[in-house]
Amino acid sequence: MRQAHLTAPRTIEWRESNAPKPGPGQLLVRVRAALTCGTDLKTYRRGHPKLAYGPFGHEASGDVIAVGKEVDRFATSDAVMWVQTAPCGECEKCARGFENLCEHLFDDIALGAYGDELLLPAKVVRQNVYKKPEKLSYIEAAFLEPFSCVVHGWNVLRRADARRPLPADVTIIGAGTIGLLHLIYAVRAGVNATVIARGAERCELASSLGAKTVVEADDTKAVVALAGSASAVFECAGTQPTWTLAAALARPGGRVVLFSGLPSGAVAEFDAAKIHYGEIALLGAFHFTPADVREAYELLGRGGIDVKPLVSGVERMDDIVRVFERLDRREGHKFALVPGSEDPQWM
Ligand SMILES: [Zn+2]
Ligand SMILES: [Zn+2]
Repeated sequence: MRQAHLTAPRTIEWRESNAPKPGPGQLLVRVRAALTCGTDLKTYRRGHPKLAYGPFGHEASGDVIAVGKEVDRFATSDAVMWVQTAPCGECEKCARGFENLCEHLFDDIALGAYGDELLLPAKVVRQNVYKKPEKLSYIEAAFLEPFSCVVHGWNVLRRADARRPLPADVTIIGAGTIGLLHLIYAVRAGVNATVIARGAERCELASSLGAKTVVEADDTKAVVALAGSASAVFECAGTQPTWTLAAALARPGGRVVLFSGLPSGAVAEFDAAKIHYGEIALLGAFHFTPADVREAYELLGRGGIDVKPLVSGVERMDDIVRVFERLDRREGHKFALVPGSEDPQWM
């Protein structure tokens, strides 16, 4: 089998090996579609603090081609979708219900979505693999991982206000894939959404996906005018100034989910009086739990979530090097990669 490995910053190499036989609890799958992700691009540019170089890519779906002992929920030729990690269930974080913070989350992770075949670890198979509903395309099914992150963010938000879990309105900073997935979730839940986006193309996309108001990020006056107006805010732009902005946008009693990660050591400033006297909840959100994955799976399976506009193009898996060079030049946001086709189509 062939897998694309990230071997150093900006260096992707194809490696060939014999396809492994799945051990107890494991599945071997043939990848049918994979997606590029902002985290992959960050890793491509500068490595990842928690992940070693090696097999690359984590968002995918495919078909089961071999089943390990003790697996009874899946059989050969099942179409499946999954996320790359699963919690251990035994560490102190898991015991407290913070499975998304599991100390062993990144042990035994299913990396290698950019390739022909992929071995899914037993703990992932046990908790975070699902049969792909027929009506979902493989590319849509590969959205399970980013959508699970988004569902987790909304669950963090909901838990922060027992009286009114769903806010009346939300302001989303950033219209990359994650910002737009938050928008799709909001629209589906009936929450009025304002999106702060950069560039005409992203602004138009946000309004076509159902944003009630779209503000151009460089229109400082319009952005400042939103201060103190939002019942809920999702920060999805990943910069220190937008973290500060997120808190400033919340109205008294508002909730702010700081969704994007900043480099370790980064410090963000907030107006202390506004946070205190306005009783504003600042909330972190990271990764997902198996319950979030299940919820994301059910929402995707129920239909009505159109992720197609979020895909910048469908490309051949063999062109992975060129696709990352394009992403590095900021051409496109999220590409779908399909193995084995000269003329890749939506699938
Ligand atoms: Zn991802
Ligand atoms: Zn754990």
